[in-house]
Amino acid sequence: MIIDMHSHLAGGFSDKFVREWINDSHFGCMPAWFKDGKERWKPEDFQKFWADEYCMDMEEQGIEKVITWGVVMRPYDCVSTVEEVAGVAAQHPNNIIPFHCGDPLGGWDAVEDLSRAVNHFGFKGMKVFPSYNWVYPDDERIFPLYEKCAELGIPTVVHTGFTFNHNAYLDYHHPADLDKVCAKFPEMTVIAAHFGFQWAEEAMTLMFKYKNLHADLAWFLLYPTDWLARTFAWAKHFGLVDRIMFGSDYPLTDGRNDGIVRLREVVSYQERHEILPSLTEEDVIAIMGGNAKRVLGL
Ligand SMILES: [Zn+2]
Repeated sequence: MIIDMHSHLAGGFSDKFVREWINDSHFGCMPAWFKDGKERWKPEDFQKFWADEYCMDMEEQGIEKVITWGVVMRPYDCVSTVEEVAGVAAQHPNNIIPFHCGDPLGGWDAVEDLSRAVNHFGFKGMKVFPSYNWVYPDDERIFPLYEKCAELGIPTVVHTGFTFNHNAYLDYHHPADLDKVCAKFPEMTVIAAHFGFQWAEEAMTLMFKYKNLHADLAWFLLYPTDWLARTFAWAKHFGLVDRIMFGSDYPLTDGRNDGIVRLREVVSYQERHEILPSLTEEDVIAIMGGNAKRVLGL
């Protein structure tokens, strides 16, 4: 079973956020994957992606389940409601597994929202974007949310790695900021989104330290093959492969971007260049879905 552990409901992004992303950041300089690499993203492109399209693309790729969430980035006026996300998930109950997007600075109201999402609508986890709310992942104002996730027995995805927006400083995105979170909530499954991206080695050091720390590969497989080959060799060496999970980051990247093909390219590169220990085919299958299945209790 292939499970995509990381996708977004693009409709939740506010005009303010999208304008800043497209007009003022390097994201806007990149060719849009859905325009055959010939044109750049435009702000209005964000409105075109809805669950129907992704579910069709998923089927083409043999992806059975996709985790998706809305967005809460207060400084950019991005706030998806529990009902919005639940509504989309309800249209594709066999494919979409909804995660609640927590408001890191929302206090007890945010905790109530999370409880409602899980207990009333059957959401299976939480995602938070501390950095795009201009705080660190280990800011103690987020702890009530983490505590609730631990109590509910659901995984928490925390954005780490890269940043596009002004004021969402790179410093807020470091996976080392999960050190205190993992220590304080050892019973909670924490997932470092994007594998910490340029800080994958630091993320692995922490994963070695904390058994509750996991990582998703959203956007990560777009990195150069030689770098991926070395990173996965380290992951294998440290025994971390069973906590790494495929994610696409659709629609920011191509949901049809075939993760399993990309991982096999990496394995073949490892073997050709003797970057050892290399991943096995069983590892690839586990990363593509087996590990996620266990984390989600499917
Ligand atoms: Zn993402």
